[in-house]
Amino acid sequence: MSPAAAEALLRGKGHSITAPRRAILRFFHGNTSHPTAGDVYAAVSADHPEASRATVYATLALLTEVGAVRALRTAEAETRYDPNVEAHHHAVCPTCGALADIPAEAVAVTLHGRVIQAEVRIEEPCEACQEIVERSLRQFG
Ligand SMILES: [Zn+2]
Ligand SMILES: [Zn+2]
Repeated sequence: MSPAAAEALLRGKGHSITAPRRAILRFFHGNTSHPTAGDVYAAVSADHPEASRATVYATLALLTEVGAVRALRTAEAETRYDPNVEAHHHAVCPTCGALADIPAEAVAVTLHGRVIQAEVRIEEPCEACQEIVERSLRQFG
């Protein structure tokens, strides 16, 4: 979701656009790294030292609540945030835990007459880890 769309969503639900909120939305724009709350805090506080860890964490909770980002709970029990709120799948790198987007139609499951959005978990080494494996194979045969 673009920062402008997210700001409109926040305003529509009666929330104001503060400087830290705007900085977090800018950080998320086009960001496919699926950052943790700690990653978001590290990136945003570099430019906005006034944005405390508590402010950043509360903003992430708010953005998740209004649907501007998705909170993904990984097998490592770590929450990662995703500004891509369209239905898509994730490939998880088994080595470093990096998440890569896989465009896909949502898998619709009907349970008790209600449609539930399901997500398929795919494990695949990320490009960086694959490169390390290939480099060490070349080195050590
Ligand atoms: Zn990896
Ligand atoms: Zn994603």
